[in-house]
Amino acid sequence: MDEKDFALYPYTSGASAQVKSLGISLDRLVTSRAMESARIRGKERVMQAISGELLKPALSISDEQKILLELLSYPFSRILVSCIDDSFLIRRYCLAEAVASYKILKTMSLDFLEEFASDFSVYPDKGDSSFKLHFTSYIRMASSLKAIEWKLVNRKLQHGDVNVSKEEFARLLQELIKERVEHNLPMPVNEELVQACEPYLLEIREYLEEKKNTFGESEFETVETDLFPPCITQAIANTQAGVNLAHSMRFAMTAFLLTIGMTVDDIMNLFTASPDFDVEKARYQVEHIAGSSGTHYKPPSCSTMQTYGNCYAPDEMCKKISHPLNYYSRKVWFRKRDAQKAAGNNVSDKNSEDKKK
Ligand code: SF4
Repeated sequence: MDEKDFALYPYTSGASAQVKSLGISLDRLVTSRAMESARIRGKERVMQAISGELLKPALSISDEQKILLELLSYPFSRILVSCIDDSFLIRRYCLAEAVASYKILKTMSLDFLEEFASDFSVYPDKGDSSFKLHFTSYIRMASSLKAIEWKLVNRKLQHGDVNVSKEEFARLLQELIKERVEHNLPMPVNEELVQACEPYLLEIREYLEEKKNTFGESEFETVETDLFPPCITQAIANTQAGVNLAHSMRFAMTAFLLTIGMTVDDIMNLFTASPDFDVEKARYQVEHIAGSSGTHYKPPSCSTMQTYGNCYAPDEMCKKISHPLNYYSRKVWFRKRDAQKAAGNNVSDKNSEDKKK
C-alpha cells in the first residue's frame, strides 16, 4: 500500500503511522489556517455519512496535497463525531466509512485485497479469482451479517475453508473496517476542543436532526432473522433463491426490514440475487421506502398482505397478531423474557450451590 492508499483507507495501521510521522498536533489540526481544507473535508465526510453515501475522491500518487488533505480529514471527522457524541451518528458514520471502502475494494486486485486483509490479521488463501478463508476467520468476519446467505450452514466447507468470491471478500472486509472505525468512538473530547470545533458542528447537528426525523430510529435493538414472521422469511428465501418477488411483497419486505433496523445497504445485499436486479433502480426504491422523499413508509398489515396474496404459511403466532411487526416484537419479547428467566435460574442455581458449600 502506498500513500494514496493510506489516504483512501485512513483507518489502517500504515495510515496511522503516516499521520504520526507528520508530527501534526491536535491543536494544529483543529486551529491552524493551513489545515482548514482538511477540516472542511472532515466535515464533508460526516455530512456525507449522514446523507448515506460517503464519496472518496479520485487520487493520483503525484497529487501530494490532495492526498495529505484526505488523510488528515479522517482524524478531524472522528473528532467532530466525538464532539456530537450521538449513537445514531456514530453508527451511520462508521457504516458510511466502511461502505465507501468496500466500493473501492471490490474493484481491486486479489493481491491488493490480500495485503489489505493482513492489516486486520486475516490471511486467506488466494486462488485465481476467489479466496479460501478458514472458517474461524469467516465466522469472525460474517458474524454481524444478517442475510441468510452469510450463515455458515449455507456455505460450502472444504477442509475447514469457506470459498468466497472477490466481491464477497470485500464485503466481509467491510465488516472489519466498520468495527475498526467504531473502535474508540466517541473519543474523549474536552470542552475546549468542542468549542474550537463549534463552527463545524452547527450544520452537522442540524442535518443530523433532520435525517433522524426522516428515517426514524428503530425501536428494536438487534435484528434477529430467526424471529421473522413466515411471510417475511419466505420473501427473503425467495429473494435469496433468485425468485422474482411481486412488487407488493418487495415493498412489504423492504419496509419491514427497514423498520426493524436493517440498513439500506443490508437490504441491497439481499436483492443482489434477484433476477431483475438493477443496482441503481433497487437503491432508489429502497431509499425511497426508507424515507428519502420525506415520507417514511410502514410495512402493510396482515389483512393487506392477505389481500395481495402475500400472507404465506401463517403459524400459531399469526393467529394472535394483526401486523407482521407485532409478530416480530412479540417473538423478540418472548426471547428476552426467556433469556432473563434463564439468567435468573443460573443465579439461583449458583446461590444454592454456594449455600451447600
Ligand atoms: S398472518 Fe401476518 S405475519 Fe403471519 S404470515 Fe400472514 S401476513 Fe405474515
